[in-house]
Amino acid sequence: MVVRSPHPIVKTQNLMTFQSLNLNASLLGMVERADYTAPTPIQSRTIPHILDGRDIVGCAQTGTGKTAAFVLPIIQMLESNPDKRSIRVLVLAPTRELAAQIDEEFDKFSQRSRLRHAVIFGGVGQQPQVDAIRRGVDILVATPGRLLDLMNQRIVRLKRIEFLVLDEADRMLDMGFIHDVKRIISTLPDKRQTLLFSATMPQAIQDLSRSILIKPVKVEVDPQSTTVDKVAQSVFFVERTDKRKLLKQVLADSTAERVLIFTRTKHRANNLSKQLSRARFPAEAIHGDKSQGARMRALANFKSGRAAILVATDIAARGLDIDAVTHVINFDLPDIPESYVHRIGRTARAGARGIAYSFCDVDERGLLKDIEKLIRQRIPVVSDHAYVSEFKAPPPSLPRRSEPRRSRRRRR
Ligand code: AMP
Repeated sequence: MVVRSPHPIVKTQNLMTFQSLNLNASLLGMVERADYTAPTPIQSRTIPHILDGRDIVGCAQTGTGKTAAFVLPIIQMLESNPDKRSIRVLVLAPTRELAAQIDEEFDKFSQRSRLRHAVIFGGVGQQPQVDAIRRGVDILVATPGRLLDLMNQRIVRLKRIEFLVLDEADRMLDMGFIHDVKRIISTLPDKRQTLLFSATMPQAIQDLSRSILIKPVKVEVDPQSTTVDKVAQSVFFVERTDKRKLLKQVLADSTAERVLIFTRTKHRANNLSKQLSRARFPAEAIHGDKSQGARMRALANFKSGRAAILVATDIAARGLDIDAVTHVINFDLPDIPESYVHRIGRTARAGARGIAYSFCDVDERGLLKDIEKLIRQRIPVVSDHAYVSEFKAPPPSLPRRSEPRRSRRRRR
């Protein structure tokens, strides 16, 4: 079986320029240095409103350039209105990796300013974070749990917040952080500018935005189907016990340079990465049970190219900003169809195209159907691989989505 080589980077047609967005000369210089030639749709449609002082509800996924959409105008506004050092900006993010990435984007664009930033998250010792905050910061990026901890210890004070950003609000809801988020917001000054970004807008997020935003400008870009359209997808029907062999063959045959593989459980992620490494496919695993240091190391090895393969679970991968992933492989299909869209979105970032393969065993046919329903397309089937299984036909009736997976298996 031949695996197609990755598509070349497709530059999106965009007539807007960064100059037309009212950004100052210093930021324009930094944007050029970062090699951002034209603003992405979320950037061109939110930056002018943020500079006008408006609240924003942004419906946009990771990969659309939403981080710079808030980082750039916030830096400009802080600089144009200097104040004595205190936490003036709070960004809340659901995962440590996303928080670290947002902090890196602040770092990238604030280097010519006097602004200081810090990031805090759980799973690591708090002392370096406390030291950074005590030295004084203007911008704090945080995950909710660690922030509440430090607020309770009276180390972080948020009485002078001018900007609140909630990033990936739907994921905070999924991960059970919504009460922590509400508690944090209740301590902030009412007079502030609030920006909320979310890939999807479930009712709870709509309710939250109604209660914390004032006459927000609503910006919706890159609906899920657009991201999906940018990815060349295919599905391999395979016995569960043949999945590892098929994976090795796909990896050996392909020109895949940077591969992100998803498994259902942490245990499977660990085992698979060990087996791949033993078979001379250097792989790293990233999941919630690893220490923060181990996760950062795995990510750094993958980003630097030392490991061409990263095996991840959904939660661990959420929000990871990994450029130029050539292939996403769904070693296991996700239980939640929306996760499929998040997963394959890793390979279609900021105008690039990508490739996504899904390995579907007999028990996963219902999940595949649910995914196809969500993305409103049939995923093309690869029928000429060495481990083709017999059960290609779709199941006669679909199991209900709300039914727990395990009970479905037992019935078969
Ligand atoms: P984000 O959706 O914020 O996670 O951004 C996804 C990726 O796109 C990051 O690697 C950014 O550095 C990159 N990026 C953001 N804005 C632009 C732009 N205007 N041009 C090119 N790349 C960008």
